[in-house]
Amino acid sequence: MNRSSENSTIYMDHAATTPMYPEVNEAMFPYMEEMFGNPSAVYRFAGKSARAVADARGKIARTIGALPEEIYFTSGGSESDNWALFSVCEERGFKNCHIITTQIEHHAIIEVCKRLEKLGVEVTYLPVSAEGLVDPALVEKSIRPETVIISVMMANNEIGTIEPVAEIGQIAREKGILFHTDAVQALGHIPIDVGTMNIDLMSASAHKLGGPKGVGLLYVRKGQNITPFISGGSQERGKRAGTLNVPGIVGFGEAALRACSRMDTDSAEVTHMRDHMISRLLTELPGSSLNGHPTKRLPGNVNISFEGIEGETALIMLDRAGICVSSGSACSSGALDPSHVLLAIGRSRDEARSAIRITPAASNRMYEVDAVIDKLEEIIRQLRGI
Ligand SMILES: *Cc1c(COP(=O)(O)O)cnc(C)c1O
Repeated sequence: MNRSSENSTIYMDHAATTPMYPEVNEAMFPYMEEMFGNPSAVYRFAGKSARAVADARGKIARTIGALPEEIYFTSGGSESDNWALFSVCEERGFKNCHIITTQIEHHAIIEVCKRLEKLGVEVTYLPVSAEGLVDPALVEKSIRPETVIISVMMANNEIGTIEPVAEIGQIAREKGILFHTDAVQALGHIPIDVGTMNIDLMSASAHKLGGPKGVGLLYVRKGQNITPFISGGSQERGKRAGTLNVPGIVGFGEAALRACSRMDTDSAEVTHMRDHMISRLLTELPGSSLNGHPTKRLPGNVNISFEGIEGETALIMLDRAGICVSSGSACSSGALDPSHVLLAIGRSRDEARSAIRITPAASNRMYEVDAVIDKLEEIIRQLRGI
C-alpha cells in the first residue's frame, strides 16, 4: 500500500495508518450516497443500512472466531481501549480495583490508566524483557484479590513484539479475572482466535488494516456484562450510543475480510522485506541494533537504533527524499521525548532517540525497500560525518 498523490513518495509507515484497499473505498461509497439511511430507523429504506452493518459485523466476527453479537463498533482503537478499562473499574466504583497492564502499552491504555489512578484505581505497569516480551509468570505473581482486569497488547506498535496473549489469557481465565488485549496492530496481520486465546475483551481499529479512519471495535465475550462508555441512544444493544458510522463500518468489514483472506501470502512477502531490511542495515551500518524480538515480531515491523544520530533528524531528511517513516521519539511541546517503549526495553534516552521505525506492507515493492535502505544509510553516514 504505497499509493500517494505524489508519485515519488515511498510510504513505509503502515503502523501509523494504512491507505484503504480500493475495494474498501468502493464498498463504502454507496453508503455515503444513495443509501444514507439511519440503520436504527424502522422504514424499509433504512433496512439497507442496517443489513450492511449486520453483514460487516458478521464478516469481522468470523475473522476472529467471535459471534456477531460480541462485536461493538466504536470510533476507533483509542475509544475501545478507554471503554474496556474505564467501564470495568466504574462498575466497582473505582475502589478496591486493581489493573495489571504493561509499560509498553499504547498511550490509549497508559493514559486511561493514569486517569483511573486519580480516581482511586491501583495499576501495576509490568516491566518487559530486553526484547519487549511480557513474562506470563510475572503477570500471575502480580495478581491480587482486588485485580479486576489484565490488559496486555497483542503486538506492540513501535517494536513489533508479539506477546504471549494466549498464555496470559489462560492465567486470567483460571483466576476468574477479565483479560483485555489491544489487538489494533494485530488484526489483519497475524491470526487471532478469541476462543483459543482466552480473550474476554479486545480492541481493534479499521485504519491499521486497510480500512477507514475513525472506526474501531470492542469485542466483548458473550456473558460479560460491560457498562456503556458513551451514553445516549440504544444503539449497539444499549452498550454504545451514537448513530452508527455506516460507511465506516462497511469499510471495516471489507478491509478485515480482505486483510485476513490474504494474510498468509501478504505476511510471507512482508516478512521477507522486513528481514532483508534488518539484515542489510545491521551488517552495512556498524553501531546499529535491532529493537524488539528477532522472530516474535510483526511481519511488517523494522525498528533499529543507530548510534550517534538523532532519529528525528534522519526522519526529516528522509522526508525530503519523499520517504515516510517514524522515529523513536515523540515531539511534545517542541521537545523530543524518547519513546516509553524503547526506555522500557532498557534503551538509554540517547539510544531511544536514535531509533527509526520502518513499517512496509505488501503493496511496497522490493526496489522501494532497497531504495529506502540506500537513502537511510547515506543519511546516517552524513549525520555521523563519515
Ligand atoms: C493506532 C493504535 C491505537 C489507536 O487506534 P485509533 O483507531 O487510531 O484510535 C491503539 N493501540 C495501538 C496498539 C495502536 O497501534
